[in-house]
Amino acid sequence: MANMISLKEEPSDLHMSNGLTDVFLDVLALSGSALARTKEEKQLIVWLAEQDQSRLGGGTVGFDLCELPWNPCTFEENRAFLLQVVAEARARLGWERLSYHPNEALLFPCLDKFSDLLAKMDVSQACPDVLANWLADADVCDPVRNGFPKCPRHNTLLTWFGCHICNN
Ligand SMILES: [Zn+2]
Repeated sequence: MANMISLKEEPSDLHMSNGLTDVFLDVLALSGSALARTKEEKQLIVWLAEQDQSRLGGGTVGFDLCELPWNPCTFEENRAFLLQVVAEARARLGWERLSYHPNEALLFPCLDKFSDLLAKMDVSQACPDVLANWLADADVCDPVRNGFPKCPRHNTLLTWFGCHICNN
Protein backbone atom coordinates (compact mmCIF):
# COMPACT_ATOMS: atom_id res chain seq x y z
CA MET A 1 0.00 0.00 0.00
CA ALA A 2 1.03 3.54 -0.50
CA ASN A 3 0.10 7.16 0.05
CA MET A 4 -0.16 9.93 -2.49
CA ILE A 5 0.40 13.67 -2.04
CA SER A 6 -1.07 15.73 -4.83
CA LEU A 7 -1.77 19.28 -5.94
CA LYS A 8 -5.16 19.60 -7.61
CA GLU A 9 -4.76 19.48 -11.40
CA GLU A 10 -0.99 19.10 -11.29
CA PRO A 11 -0.45 15.82 -13.18
CA SER A 12 2.57 14.46 -11.33
CA ASP A 13 1.82 13.29 -7.79
CA LEU A 14 4.16 12.22 -5.02
CA HIS A 15 3.80 8.49 -4.32
CA MET A 16 5.36 6.91 -1.24
CA SER A 17 5.19 3.49 0.37
CA ASN A 18 3.62 3.40 3.82
CA GLY A 19 7.01 3.06 5.49
CA LEU A 20 8.53 5.89 3.49
CA THR A 21 5.52 8.07 4.34
CA ASP A 22 6.29 7.61 8.05
CA VAL A 23 9.90 8.62 7.48
CA PHE A 24 8.85 11.61 5.34
CA LEU A 25 6.50 12.86 8.08
CA ASP A 26 9.06 12.15 10.84
CA VAL A 27 11.69 14.38 9.27
CA LEU A 28 9.18 17.15 8.46
CA ALA A 29 7.91 16.99 12.06
CA LEU A 30 11.47 17.33 13.36
CA SER A 31 12.49 20.29 11.23
CA GLY A 32 9.04 21.88 11.25
CA SER A 33 8.78 21.75 15.04
CA ALA A 34 12.22 23.30 15.37
CA LEU A 35 11.45 26.11 12.90
CA ALA A 36 7.79 26.93 13.59
CA ARG A 37 7.31 30.26 15.36
CA THR A 38 3.83 31.53 14.50
CA LYS A 39 0.50 29.91 15.23
CA GLU A 40 -0.07 29.30 11.52
CA GLU A 41 3.31 27.61 11.13
CA LYS A 42 2.68 25.35 14.13
CA GLN A 43 -0.79 24.48 12.84
CA LEU A 44 0.62 23.33 9.51
CA ILE A 45 3.20 21.08 11.18
CA VAL A 46 0.65 19.62 13.60
CA TRP A 47 -1.67 18.89 10.68
CA LEU A 48 1.11 17.10 8.79
CA ALA A 49 2.10 15.09 11.87
CA GLU A 50 -1.55 14.23 12.41
CA GLN A 51 -1.44 12.16 9.20
CA ASP A 52 -0.44 9.32 11.50
CA GLN A 53 -0.72 5.85 10.01
CA SER A 54 -0.34 4.19 13.44
CA ARG A 55 -3.76 5.59 14.32
CA LEU A 56 -5.46 6.17 10.97
CA GLY A 57 -4.27 3.02 9.21
CA GLY A 58 -1.57 2.29 6.67
CA GLY A 59 -2.11 3.79 3.24
CA THR A 60 -4.83 6.18 4.40
CA VAL A 61 -2.93 9.42 4.92
CA GLY A 62 -2.47 10.77 1.41
CA PHE A 63 -3.64 14.32 0.89
CA ASP A 64 -3.85 17.18 -1.54
CA LEU A 65 -1.89 20.31 -0.69
CA CYS A 66 -5.13 22.29 -0.87
CA GLU A 67 -6.36 20.30 2.17
CA LEU A 68 -3.72 21.73 4.49
CA PRO A 69 -5.06 24.25 7.03
CA TRP A 70 -3.79 27.31 5.16
CA ASN A 71 -4.62 30.75 6.43
CA PRO A 72 -5.14 32.65 3.14
CA CYS A 73 -3.93 35.88 4.78
CA THR A 74 -0.52 34.39 5.51
CA PHE A 75 -0.32 31.89 2.66
CA GLU A 76 2.85 33.20 1.02
CA GLU A 77 4.91 33.36 4.20
CA ASN A 78 3.55 30.00 5.37
CA ARG A 79 4.41 28.39 2.03
CA ALA A 80 7.92 29.88 2.31
CA PHE A 81 8.10 28.43 5.82
CA LEU A 82 7.20 24.95 4.59
CA LEU A 83 9.79 25.18 1.82
CA GLN A 84 12.35 26.05 4.51
CA VAL A 85 11.14 23.10 6.60
CA VAL A 86 11.73 20.76 3.66
CA ALA A 87 15.19 22.27 3.03
CA GLU A 88 16.17 21.80 6.67
CA ALA A 89 14.79 18.24 6.66
CA ARG A 90 17.08 17.60 3.69
CA ALA A 91 19.91 19.07 5.80
CA ARG A 92 19.02 16.42 8.42
CA LEU A 93 17.84 18.88 11.08
CA GLY A 94 17.01 16.95 14.26
CA TRP A 95 17.84 13.56 12.82
CA GLU A 96 19.98 12.79 15.88
CA ARG A 97 16.68 12.31 17.72
CA LEU A 98 15.64 9.46 15.42
CA SER A 99 16.38 5.87 16.42
CA TYR A 100 17.09 5.04 12.77
CA HIS A 101 18.77 6.69 9.81
CA PRO A 102 16.43 7.49 6.92
CA ASN A 103 17.23 6.02 3.53
CA GLU A 104 18.28 9.25 1.84
CA ALA A 105 18.21 7.77 -1.66
CA LEU A 106 14.50 7.13 -1.22
CA LEU A 107 13.61 10.12 0.96
CA PHE A 108 15.36 13.04 -0.71
CA PRO A 109 13.57 12.72 -4.08
CA CYS A 110 10.27 12.77 -2.17
CA LEU A 111 11.25 15.90 -0.28
CA ASP A 112 12.27 17.51 -3.58
CA LYS A 113 8.96 16.55 -5.19
CA PHE A 114 7.06 17.95 -2.20
CA SER A 115 8.94 21.24 -2.62
CA ASP A 116 8.09 21.27 -6.32
CA LEU A 117 4.38 20.86 -5.58
CA LEU A 118 4.49 23.53 -2.87
CA ALA A 119 6.25 25.95 -5.21
CA LYS A 120 3.59 25.40 -7.87
CA MET A 121 0.71 26.01 -5.51
CA ASP A 122 -1.29 29.23 -5.72
CA VAL A 123 -3.22 30.79 -2.86
CA SER A 124 -6.40 30.38 -4.91
CA GLN A 125 -5.97 26.60 -4.59
CA ALA A 126 -6.10 26.66 -0.78
CA CYS A 127 -9.51 25.54 0.48
CA PRO A 128 -10.73 28.53 2.50
CA ASP A 129 -12.77 26.63 5.11
CA VAL A 130 -10.26 23.90 5.99
CA LEU A 131 -8.51 25.74 8.80
CA ALA A 132 -11.69 26.87 10.54
CA ASN A 133 -13.31 23.44 10.19
CA TRP A 134 -10.21 21.63 11.44
CA LEU A 135 -10.01 23.85 14.53
CA ALA A 136 -13.76 23.61 15.13
CA ASP A 137 -13.53 19.80 15.02
CA ALA A 138 -10.58 19.71 17.42
CA ASP A 139 -11.41 18.47 20.92
CA VAL A 140 -10.94 20.98 23.75
CA CYS A 141 -8.02 18.79 24.89
CA ASP A 142 -6.41 18.77 21.44
CA PRO A 143 -2.80 20.07 21.51
CA VAL A 144 -3.63 22.48 18.70
CA ARG A 145 -5.96 24.29 21.11
CA ASN A 146 -3.66 24.02 24.12
CA GLY A 147 -0.48 25.94 23.44
CA PHE A 148 1.21 23.45 21.09
CA PRO A 149 2.98 21.11 23.55
CA LYS A 150 5.96 19.11 22.31
CA CYS A 151 7.19 15.55 22.80
CA PRO A 152 9.90 15.69 25.51
CA ARG A 153 11.88 12.99 23.71
CA HIS A 154 11.74 14.25 20.13
CA ASN A 155 10.94 17.94 20.61
CA THR A 156 8.19 17.54 18.00
CA LEU A 157 4.81 19.21 18.12
CA LEU A 158 2.18 16.81 19.47
CA THR A 159 -1.07 16.00 17.71
CA TRP A 160 -4.33 14.55 18.98
CA PHE A 161 -2.64 11.16 18.43
CA GLY A 162 0.53 12.08 20.33
CA CYS A 163 4.02 12.21 18.84
CA HIS A 164 4.31 11.00 15.25
CA ILE A 165 7.81 9.63 15.85
CA CYS A 166 6.97 7.84 19.13
CA ASN A 167 3.88 6.31 17.49
CA ASN A 168 5.64 5.09 14.39
ZN1 LIG B 1 8.19 11.49 20.52
